Amino acid sequence: MLNTMSMIPHTPSVRHTSSIELSRTAFQSNVAFVRTLLEPDVQLSAVLKGNAYGHGLEHMTQLCLEAGITHISVFSAHEALRVWQKTKGEATILIMGLIENEDLPWAISQDIEFFVFETDRLQAAIAAARSLGKPARIHLEVETGMNRTGFDRDELPAILELLKQHTPHLRLMSLCTHFAGAEEMANSPRIGQQLEQYNALYEEFCGAGLRPAMRHTACSAASLNYPETRMELVRIGIMLYGFWPNLETRTLFLEKQPQQQDPLRRLIRWRSKVMSVKAVQEGEYIGYGTSCLAQTDMRIATVPVGYAYGFARSLSNVGRVLIQGQPAAVVGVVNMNLLMVDISALSGVQKGDEVVLIGRQGEEEISVASFSEMSHQLNYEMLTRLPGDIPRSIVD
Ligand SMILES: *Cc1c(COP(=O)(O)O)cnc(C)c1O
Repeated sequence: MLNTMSMIPHTPSVRHTSSIELSRTAFQSNVAFVRTLLEPDVQLSAVLKGNAYGHGLEHMTQLCLEAGITHISVFSAHEALRVWQKTKGEATILIMGLIENEDLPWAISQDIEFFVFETDRLQAAIAAARSLGKPARIHLEVETGMNRTGFDRDELPAILELLKQHTPHLRLMSLCTHFAGAEEMANSPRIGQQLEQYNALYEEFCGAGLRPAMRHTACSAASLNYPETRMELVRIGIMLYGFWPNLETRTLFLEKQPQQQDPLRRLIRWRSKVMSVKAVQEGEYIGYGTSCLAQTDMRIATVPVGYAYGFARSLSNVGRVLIQGQPAAVVGVVNMNLLMVDISALSGVQKGDEVVLIGRQGEEEISVASFSEMSHQLNYEMLTRLPGDIPRSIVD
């Protein structure tokens, strides 16, 4: 009898077209830097939303645990589930965005904390907590001027009433808010108003006999630019990955440092291999269409990474990669699954040679910042577009 299964002796394992390495020492050094900004009693919550800014949620959770970070913030219940499967109770998990009411019983039963910014969610949390016989650990988000999520001021009397009536079913973990653009000093009047509004609301809660266990408002940029926003906990994302929220924040910070040395180190290294090399004659076009004409005889290398794999199409004829420790320019348009680079100036490039798309190779480095400045995108967006199925590994 033909047994098809026996023809596959074990789970087949084939190579992906690229891979991502995450540096443990870089992460630890970023964590140490962030901690130097904080008073010893301020908690650090690592923000791992967006598949940990494209780095990989499970790998970053592991790095957090190793670094002694015991508070992790995510956007959705689904991300919380993935973190929870790795942490098994070793870290507090906070959902800052979406959790459907149907998933509240799961979150409450596992001590997963979540933002509450709507009466509907508050009522559903109370109901779920009551039937579980276990209090919901809630972070009450208030509107202070971002106009995204958060209870409006006129909703608060009713909310305070609900909170008071149902104290056995609720743990008011915090009163929190989020700033609308703390990375740009041009926004500081707005940030100042938000902070003032937040402080007034906090006083109102305390006055009503509902003192939240803590206060948190700050992301990376607010922690850097407005020390008074750090309070009892900060929610830090981008800096832990070794990036500044934007250039302005970096400049402002470094100006204040005596040695002006950048304390942040990137964790990520994204690499692939040369898939094939070929010669192109002067006067020929390279790739689709006519965007790239060979001005002289050229040699090009094809790399199996295209826009479907997180390499933006807007980097067509603009982006750069590293081969043999040297920059090689993207020529022609970035295709769905591959791109071409000019290797005319390099000698002996061969199929299988390492290609670095982000990170260091030899003395050169492709930073996502320059990569994204070229394509007019933010670090945040470029990073989170890295597909989740690229294999990741942690290196020292
Ligand atoms: C994304 C996010 C953060 C972290 O922002 P960074 O700029 O990456 O530090 C903090 N708080 C909230 C509510 C967020 O959505």
